[in-house]
Amino acid sequence: MPGYKLAIDGPAGSGKSTISSLIAKKLGWTHIDTGAMYRAVTLLAIEKGINLNDEASYRFLESSLIHYDSNRIFIDDRDVTEAIRSEAVTHHVSLVSSFPYVRKKLVQLQQRAALNGNIVMDGRDIGTVVLPKADLKIFLTANVEERAKRRFKENVKKGKQAQISQVIEDIVNRDQKDSTRKESPLRKASDAVELDTTYLTIEQVVNKIIELTDKKENNHGV
Ligand code: C5P
Repeated sequence: MPGYKLAIDGPAGSGKSTISSLIAKKLGWTHIDTGAMYRAVTLLAIEKGINLNDEASYRFLESSLIHYDSNRIFIDDRDVTEAIRSEAVTHHVSLVSSFPYVRKKLVQLQQRAALNGNIVMDGRDIGTVVLPKADLKIFLTANVEERAKRRFKENVKKGKQAQISQVIEDIVNRDQKDSTRKESPLRKASDAVELDTTYLTIEQVVNKIIELTDKKENNHGV
């Protein structure tokens, strides 16, 4: 049963994960947050104390299973959903995800996870590399101040201390690294629909995407 594939990409803090998770809940689809997978690799690399700049050191991925299930992220059987949001992971994740070996391993897992059923997958390269034949591709954007404000509010909710200036710096740095790396840089697929969410509520974005999904489904049916 192949099913519908919805690809959602965009820069840091554009609301991809929150929006993808809500769409999946509303439609009864499966959500896969690929950013959480890159974060899990980063967490494991830090824990193992490897040289983060050495691509060959990431071979530990041959014997560790990273998987995303029901809004939780696991390394083998260990739930690391909270641990992957640490400052250290956020700081190093763009470096870790720039290595072709790491990307190859995770893209394989992501493509396998998307094989069956209706899937909402969010990340940076879903429409361009992971699911190039997705039924619908969305590219979410928002201005950097708005994205930082959203991240800041999330942090406060989780009881994390952070200066708004620090959050802006982190977002700008990650966007710069993610969009200039050689391997699968962050970019809008030529057939993606771009949605600027700066002045939209989460609910408006969710509804808009579901509307676009419906249209595509109807087109498929005729
Ligand atoms: O989505 P999130 O901000 O949690 O992603 C963390 C990092 O993982 C990104 O900054 C990027 O470096 C990397 N990433 C990626 N490709 C994806 C998803 C995330 O390179 N498909």
